[in-house]
Amino acid sequence: MHCPFCRHPDSRVVDSRTSEDGSSIRRRRQCPNCMRRFTTMEHTSLAVIKRSGVSEEFSRQKVISGVRKACQGRPVGEDDLAKLAQRVEEKIRSRGIAEIDADEVGLAILEPLRELDQVAFLRFASVYQGFESLEDFEAAIASLRAERDAEPAGAAAGTAPSEVPEQNS
Ligand SMILES: [Zn+2]
Repeated sequence: MHCPFCRHPDSRVVDSRTSEDGSSIRRRRQCPNCMRRFTTMEHTSLAVIKRSGVSEEFSRQKVISGVRKACQGRPVGEDDLAKLAQRVEEKIRSRGIAEIDADEVGLAILEPLRELDQVAFLRFASVYQGFESLEDFEAAIASLRAERDAEPAGAAAGTAPSEVPEQNS
């Protein structure tokens, strides 16, 4: 693997550890040329099957570009998008599957996006859940309201909570 600093074509593994859930291995590497250290992650391959039947490797970047449009004009930063994409990837990988339909990736985005920004969520959901009428929007908004009203006051918007317990669905 290339050194990301000096592009030296080789590197030495100085430490390896398996993640808690056993789904990935993290390696610390050192470049023998510039001596700097960097980290690589090894995951099993996760293929996304598109509607056309073509499969491609899962990419957080694709998740981000898919969500970015829905977030236009919203107070959502690049950091938020990166965290969202990470949560989506973790959620999908925790299922222990080797491939997933592109539509299911879209669905996996909905929950973290709803927590991040409700307007962006509605925009995104209208596409991924195929909203066809005002009633579809009304139903989605009613469920957002019900959820908001169920939450204790003060726990509202602002920074997205970073330590949300994973819920099994
Ligand atoms: Zn180097």
